[in-house]
Amino acid sequence: MGDFYIYKTFNKYKETLISANAMYLVTDQGVVLFDAPWDKSQFQPLLDSIKSKHKKNVVMYFATHSHDDRSGGLKFYRQKGIKTYTTKLTDQILKNKNENRAEFIISNDTVFKVGKYKFEVYYPGKGHALDNIVVWFDNEKVLYGGCFVKSADAKDLGYLDDADVDEWEESIEKVQTKFKKPKYIIPGHENWTDTESLNHTLKLVQEYKTKKASDNKLNKK
Ligand SMILES: [Zn+2]
Repeated sequence: MGDFYIYKTFNKYKETLISANAMYLVTDQGVVLFDAPWDKSQFQPLLDSIKSKHKKNVVMYFATHSHDDRSGGLKFYRQKGIKTYTTKLTDQILKNKNENRAEFIISNDTVFKVGKYKFEVYYPGKGHALDNIVVWFDNEKVLYGGCFVKSADAKDLGYLDDADVDEWEESIEKVQTKFKKPKYIIPGHENWTDTESLNHTLKLVQEYKTKKASDNKLNKK
């Protein structure tokens, strides 16, 4: 994918090993991380492998929501002198949970230019988490979805403790309206080669809502 690189790291959730996708972008002004390794032991190796592979330093890191598989690297990378970013909403959640926060706060919909690349950091509304954002590269038609997007292979919506499934549907539609014809859509976990992932997420959300509605009806009887 040109200067875009997707890597997977693994961590345990409820005794099963799960992988998480993250992305980095190589520019002539340095490397930009979109989320960090889920596995903390990979924080430094990631910097080392980027350095040896591309002969460049990491200069920025965007965490796409407050969960550990996205924001877990804020302290480490900030200490390394890398500019770290979250939205205000993510920052508030991290602050309330007494977790490490980013150095810089982005307002929800901001366009960044790094080298020859331009990307928009966009808050579509609630979904997988109250604060999930996506990143859109308009020239390259790359949508970095993070956990807001489920893989086309996903069987269900996964971890929902902080989700708002009702609003998720509307949030997906906003992304689909705003960012047309993505060539790549990167979900937070599992297979990322199938661009049906966003439609599939919408379908999973709709099925979940339908099921919940019929469960509620049954309970009322
Ligand atoms: Zn999450």
